[in-house]
Amino acid sequence: MIKLTGIVKRYGSQEVLKGVNMSVARGEVCVLLGPSGGGKSTLLRTINGLEEFDGGTIEISGTTLTAATGPDHQAALLQIRRKVGMVFQQFNLFPHRTVLENVIEAPVHVLKQSRALAVEKAKELLERVGMLQKCNAMPGSLSGGQQQRVAIARTLAMQPDAILFDEPTSALDPNTTAEVISVMQDLAKNGQGMIVVTHGMHFAKNVAHTVHILHSGAIVESGSPQQVFENPSHEVTKHFLSDSR
Ligand code: ADP
Ligand code: MG
Repeated sequence: MIKLTGIVKRYGSQEVLKGVNMSVARGEVCVLLGPSGGGKSTLLRTINGLEEFDGGTIEISGTTLTAATGPDHQAALLQIRRKVGMVFQQFNLFPHRTVLENVIEAPVHVLKQSRALAVEKAKELLERVGMLQKCNAMPGSLSGGQQQRVAIARTLAMQPDAILFDEPTSALDPNTTAEVISVMQDLAKNGQGMIVVTHGMHFAKNVAHTVHILHSGAIVESGSPQQVFENPSHEVTKHFLSDSR
């Protein structure tokens, strides 16, 4: 469903992604691990069309995006942004809108759903993440974990083929982290494809189908959690795992 071929990304003279190849099947749960500064956030932002890139191709559910610009590029970019959702470390909810308004915003304005339908679906999604009782609350009155669950519902409202999570729990305390992880586990179990950057080894070991190690802009190792954690083949992976124990 997602296929990245030779993705290159530069910031000025610094090559941050050096030809990343990666495939994600429909419903597959991938965890992306690796040392800080290795390019994980840049890769997720690139897949979501938030960053221009300098080489390679991104294919998502039949839409192909290359580094070239032009009218076709803009159209492909819009398609890709619809097919892939993103959940950020800092939630990024609209602060002056209620929880419910946050969730219906994109379905109404981008998917052109009627307000009534969008509200009905939003309520189902808020129920699913355990936040329906807060549907009229303002984001600022919620805990970080609650805001993140609303952010997940907002992403789900666009019915994305895959959701990219960039360290979704690293701004949270342990209790609210558990709530968010439990929601993510539930989505994974129900076949939602996702790519997750996380320090949460428990999620990587118990929920992921595939683990990728990104180091200095390249994927140095990929495999099942069992393979990568119990029998890492690359020095970088061994170092990374011993540091994160
Ligand atoms: P990770 O998420 O794995 O910690 P990042 O993708 O954030 O890594 O960063 C990879 C590299 O790209 C780092 O060297 C970082 O300093 C650089 N970088 C990230 N974003 C920018 C930016 N907007 N402008 C310039 N350099 C950046
Ligand atoms: Mg990052």
